[in-house]
This record gives sequence, C-alpha cells and structure tokens, in this order.
Amino acid sequence: MSDSVSSRPSFFRRAATAVTQWIDSDYCPEGAEKMRNEPDRVDWVRVMPFVVLHLGCFGVIWVGVSAFAAWAAVALYFIRMFAVTGIHHRYFSHKTYSTSRAGQFFLALWAGTTVQRGSLWWAYHHRHHHQHSDDPEDAHSPHVHGFIWSHIGWITSRRNFPTDYSKVKDLAKFPELVWLNRFDLLVPIAYAFSMFGFGALLEHYAPGLGTNGWQMLVWGFFISTTALFHGTACINSFTHLWGKRRFNTTDDSRNSFILALVCLGEGWHNNHHRYQSCTRNGFYWWEIDPTYYGLKMLSWTGLIWGLKDVPQSILEEGMRAEHQNSVAAAQASTLTRPENASSLRHVLPAAAAIAVATVNASGTQIPQKPAAGVHKDVSELAHELGQAKPAAQPPAAPTDRTA
Ligand SMILES: [Zn+2]
Ligand SMILES: [Zn+2]
Repeated sequence: MSDSVSSRPSFFRRAATAVTQWIDSDYCPEGAEKMRNEPDRVDWVRVMPFVVLHLGCFGVIWVGVSAFAAWAAVALYFIRMFAVTGIHHRYFSHKTYSTSRAGQFFLALWAGTTVQRGSLWWAYHHRHHHQHSDDPEDAHSPHVHGFIWSHIGWITSRRNFPTDYSKVKDLAKFPELVWLNRFDLLVPIAYAFSMFGFGALLEHYAPGLGTNGWQMLVWGFFISTTALFHGTACINSFTHLWGKRRFNTTDDSRNSFILALVCLGEGWHNNHHRYQSCTRNGFYWWEIDPTYYGLKMLSWTGLIWGLKDVPQSILEEGMRAEHQNSVAAAQASTLTRPENASSLRHVLPAAAAIAVATVNASGTQIPQKPAAGVHKDVSELAHELGQAKPAAQPPAAPTDRTA
C-alpha cells in the first residue's frame, strides 16, 4: 500500500522508519508535523531500546550483586537525577541560569547519560506541558490520559518522538546541541560501555570489591537508568494527583515532600507551575531542594552563573495562600467534629421531616446540587463554606519560553 492511497504509512514503512530512528531520531520521511498529528499509538518497534533498557535489569539473575555495584547504582541515580532536574529541566527547559557555550555542551553531554532522549526533545515536551497542563493537549496528564499513560505510555507513542525545533528555537540555534539531540543514543551507548569498562578495570585492579564489567553494566546502566526513568516519570504522573496545592494554578499540580526527596526537589511541582523562571522549586527554606543546592555549588566553580531567585511577590502570595488554606481546613474540621456531629444528630431528623413535608406540599422539585469537583481543593471548600475565596491569581508568570 503506498502513501498515495493511504494517509497512514504501511507497517513495513513505519517499522523501517522506527529502526532508522533508533540511530537518527530526526529521520521522518513522512514529515515530523504529520507524525505529531497522528493519534496516540504505541510504536513497538521504535520503543524497543526502551524495552531493552527494562529487560536488561533481569541481567542481575546472572551477574549477581556486590555492595560496590549496588551503591554505585544509587550514586549514579542521584548524579543523573541532578542532570534531569538541574540540566534538562532548570536549564534547557526554563533557562533559570546561564552558562557558556562550552559549558552548555558539557551540560548536554551530562544530561545525555540520563537516557531520556535529547535535551531539545526534553525541553520541547516540557514547555508544551506547561502551556497545556492538564488540558487535552497535554501529552502526559493523568487526568486526561490516565495514570499509566501519563507515567510511561506517552513516551512510547509514535507521535511524541519527533522534536518540534520551532518550539525550542533558542536551543536549536546551536548545531552541536541539535546534533546531540538527533543522535540521542550515542551518549547512552558510550555511558553503557564506560560502565562495562569501569567494572572490568575494578575486577583487574581491585578484585576485593567483588565486581566486574557485566555486573557494573547491569547495575550502573540498566538498573540505575530504569529507576531514574521511573523516578522522573513520577513528576508527570504523581505530582498532578497527590500532594498539597498551595497555589491555585489552572492545572492540578501538587507539592510532595516525598517526591522532593526522590527527585531532588522536583516534588514542589505546584510551586513550579506557579512560577517557572526561578532556579529553585522549593520556594521556602524548609522546602528541601537538593538540585538548587547543587546548582548553587556549581555556580561557585564558575561553570554556571545568574541563578534566579523567587520573586518576593510570589513568596508573599504563597504565604497568603497557606493562611487561607489553613483557615478553610480549620473550618472544615470544625464542621466534622464529633460534638458538632452529635448536636446535628438531634436537629437533622426534624429538619429533614420539615423539608420533605414542605416539598410534598408544594410539589416543587429539590434542585440538584452540582456534582463535586473531581479535584476539589481546600480553596474551593472555603468557597462552599461561605468564606472568601482566595483572591484570583495574577496572570501566569511569564516563563522563559521563547516558542
Ligand atoms: Zn518545568
Ligand atoms: Zn506539571
């Protein structure tokens, strides 16, 4: 079947395209725009390297474990989680600090070891997420597509593979970044080989550690990288479902202390959706943000500079919102206290009887209360309780999006 008689390429054409894209992720013979406009569908051929990444974890059955390999996997998880959050996210996606062109290339190489495709692909999708958070256009909203799709499905969808360079023009003007983005498997392969070589060297020069090339490949590459993917994916899935909402943003982003630990500060996702242009996601001193601390230390080396603070107006807005949220929570708990409930028990039967009698007498219909919002937060509860709803949020803060 040719393209002239079908808008959808044949299976073999799509498979050949997918295999070529393993090497050259910009290869799109039918056009990247057309591919992006397809409906969501898992591309099983294209996604095979991602499947192999997961299957490689089972290599532990044959290589076993040593304390050194296990701790190396943990250390490499956090070193590379820092690259996801501090480089892919806070530099390439939001440009919350500055660096030189050589420094930028070094950061892109570091971020390449995370095996989360190229920095431009990452930034394009992330900026798109901020523009369309939790609306039907959002590629990974758990409210629109469900939890599994938001966590892992969207990254396997054929339409989400091509990078839209028109949305990352500020980055696409650097040919070295575009090249790394296009051949996004090169750094991961080099990283995997280096893990094997490192393990082989240790086996030869430090046999007491009990590790070897294959074991370090499994623990330092496959297991650590798979865990890194799922840790990162929690930000797309869990932080739009679980946690507290401080700011009444137009999406359902939430703050989570646990995910701030797992993802080195990215758990303060509601903060971040409120204001994206600052280097820290933990806005207050008690909100732990290891990525910010790491970036601060990097700035002392001169590799990066110009870290952006949280504006005072945003900090004050957050404190006002906290106050209003706690007042609403206190009001809600007052209504549900046992002593109030017991007094209500005496009043409610009589009130209900009067209401039924009144309705029957008049023949009127009881107006139906609108269904409760799926994602009701305390500010909405405050409104229902007759409290002043928190002041409407100022317009979304300008981000550094250039698209
Ligand atoms: Zn962001
Ligand atoms: Zn989000």
